[in-house]
Amino acid sequence: MKSRLFLIVAVVFLRGSGVSAEPPLVRFQVNGHAKEGLLLVQTDHRTVLLSRDGWLHDSLDGQRPQIETRLNSTFVATTAAELRSALQVEFGRGFEVVPTQHYLVVQSEGRGHRWPRTFEGLYREFVRFMKVRGLQTRSGRFPLVAVILPDQAEFQRELERLNVQLSRVAGIYQLGSNRVYLHEQGQRDYVAETVRHESAHQVAYNVGIHSRVADTPRWIVEGVGCLFEPAAMQSFHLQRGVRDRSHRGYVTQFIANFRDPTLLATELLQLVSDDTLFQTSQSVDRAYCLSWALTFYMAERKPSAFAAMLQETNHLPPFQTYPRLQRQNDFARWIDQSLPQFAADLSRFIESLR
Ligand SMILES: [Zn+2]
Repeated sequence: MKSRLFLIVAVVFLRGSGVSAEPPLVRFQVNGHAKEGLLLVQTDHRTVLLSRDGWLHDSLDGQRPQIETRLNSTFVATTAAELRSALQVEFGRGFEVVPTQHYLVVQSEGRGHRWPRTFEGLYREFVRFMKVRGLQTRSGRFPLVAVILPDQAEFQRELERLNVQLSRVAGIYQLGSNRVYLHEQGQRDYVAETVRHESAHQVAYNVGIHSRVADTPRWIVEGVGCLFEPAAMQSFHLQRGVRDRSHRGYVTQFIANFRDPTLLATELLQLVSDDTLFQTSQSVDRAYCLSWALTFYMAERKPSAFAAMLQETNHLPPFQTYPRLQRQNDFARWIDQSLPQFAADLSRFIESLR
């Protein structure tokens, strides 16, 4: 199975007192490293720090950040030059760090410019796609780090080092480190599709489309990731029409599974109410397909609803759960029609792409 985003943390409800309006800058230790960063949450149950290198250290992810002292200076993100040196030390011999406008690409020495160009191209297309639909993006605070490992074994070792339990995936975007990790072994089309999906997650979380500290519904996060899977999404010239931008695999899967609009309406309600469809192996494939169909339809046929959905979820209060009823009400407001009618329209739209 494709990696998808796996670290949407189990966001717990925190009383306002735990989240400060102007987070203090502190020095802390984590995994044997001294770091500086903003203390975003400190309660009896949870500590969250955003370090200068862009990592979000969250005790809910099993990390044990130890705060040492408060600092009387302002938060300054690590510069690209500083981060480049640090990455070279972290990955060591055999790897090079290639800087681009938005990225630091860590890859095996002598791999050339294929990956750096691919990532910059995906970034550019992502921003353009959102702009066309009325969404302004901003430059991220941190350089984007993409790590390309030479094979599955090295990739798996890196995941273990990150304490991530996943296997048989070609890539991930990890919310905590804010990095994309991937490997080049295996079927080329599958690798490329994974890169586009995970890269879309990383860009979305760094240019103001999603928030790393909000409880964004999983269907929205994965819907956006899936939108960028088709090869045409990496080049404007390949996307003349709606069919070019569509995902052939999901179209086929949707038509096979969701032809009945009554059943579709029931599944849609389930999808937008909570994240449970993503949590069992029996339903996870349907969840991705449905998330793609819903997000694609909104992006293509209801761009103002698409923009409102992303803007509002990006501004959800940090570190608070997004309750079921509010999710349902917000969705109903975005689509602005009855769910059965919406399901019938969605069904017709996807049928028209076959
Ligand atoms: Zn994903």
